[in-house]
Amino acid sequence: MSLKNRNAVITGSTSGIGLAYARALAAEGANVLINGFGKPEDIESERAAIESDFGVSAIYSSADMTKPDQIKAMIDEAVAQLGGVDILINNAGVQFVSPIEEFPIEKWDQILAINLSAAFHAIRAVIPIMKKAGWGRIISTASAHSLVASPFKAAYVSAKHGLAGLTKTAALELATDGITVNCISPGYVWTPLVEHQIPDTMKARGLTREQVIHDVLLDSQPTKEFVTAEQVAAVAVFLCSDAAAQITGTNISVDGGWTAE
Ligand code: NAD
Repeated sequence: MSLKNRNAVITGSTSGIGLAYARALAAEGANVLINGFGKPEDIESERAAIESDFGVSAIYSSADMTKPDQIKAMIDEAVAQLGGVDILINNAGVQFVSPIEEFPIEKWDQILAINLSAAFHAIRAVIPIMKKAGWGRIISTASAHSLVASPFKAAYVSAKHGLAGLTKTAALELATDGITVNCISPGYVWTPLVEHQIPDTMKARGLTREQVIHDVLLDSQPTKEFVTAEQVAAVAVFLCSDAAAQITGTNISVDGGWTAE
């Protein structure tokens, strides 16, 4: 239980990779604040399962990551209810697939807000708390798309490249404060986010569902397998350990070899 008495805030953790982070940190003894959208009864059962499976405190914030004031309130709530924020995982993210000339402007703004600006607002809010504690771990879920591009994902690729830059900047600013800042860059992980982009990719590229899965998604991954959410979460647990105290400012790929090509 290496993270006993640590308190973690994980944005976008009602589903997919975020939920895997929350459960993996709780399994190590951390109390968690989960966040994101979904049916209230589903969220409540996820929250309650974390408490009963791992014997930690788990609270939920409905903060909308497009709203800076709600992001600050979420961090304040973690401090008030859990007692602090030692670990921040910026994970909320959305995708939209379209050629640039048809890309809806409101989708560009929304993706930049959730996938990039929300991390800035959350990092900004936790820095004084972590500096005071003299310890902190800030992790963001970037993507293989923080390192390479794919057509039709202009907003996502731009936001994720920005997130990798924000990570490096924050790491340098906090290097002597006992706070590490890193991002994890998964390839394709089978989650609702990937599943939901299949119809748009079928439309944008004129392909069948099977062709999108095998010729577009898994085509990028030399291993020809999806990454699992649990494999991504295990990297975050390692980054929170003392063994990772000198790992800061990095972008760790978990992508089946995608960005080696
Ligand atoms: P997901 O759709 O399963 O989860 C996204 C989470 O973000 C959900 O909890 C959702 O409710 C939440 N969310 C969305 N909009 C929000 C908002 N405005 N405010 C608060 N929460 C919001 O997706 P996922 O695949 O688990 O993605 C998680 C992260 O991993 C994202 O940042 C994504 O870009 C990144 N990622 C995913 C993959 C993949 O293949 N699935 C690959 C690389 C990176």
